[in-house]
Amino acid sequence: MDFKKLPRCGARAKSNFGLPCRHVALKNGRCHYHGGKVPVKNGRYTKLARMERTEQRRLITTMRNTSLSLEELVK
Ligand SMILES: [Zn+2]
Repeated sequence: MDFKKLPRCGARAKSNFGLPCRHVALKNGRCHYHGGKVPVKNGRYTKLARMERTEQRRLITTMRNTSLSLEELVK
C-alpha cells in the first residue's frame, strides 16, 4: 500500500495557511479532525441531547410566533 496515494483531507486548515489539510482522509473524504466520526458519544451528540435541542427549537419558534401575533393584536 502506497501511503502517498491514500485519499487526502480537502478541508481548509488554518494551521496550513488556508491550504487543504492533507491529512489522510477517512471514507467520508475528511480526516479525523475534519468531519471524522465522533469516537465517543457524549454531550452535544447523544440522542437525548439532539431530542432536547429539537424540542427547544420548537418552543422558541412557538414563542416567537406567539409574540408576533400578540404584536399584531396590539396594533
Ligand atoms: Zn483534515
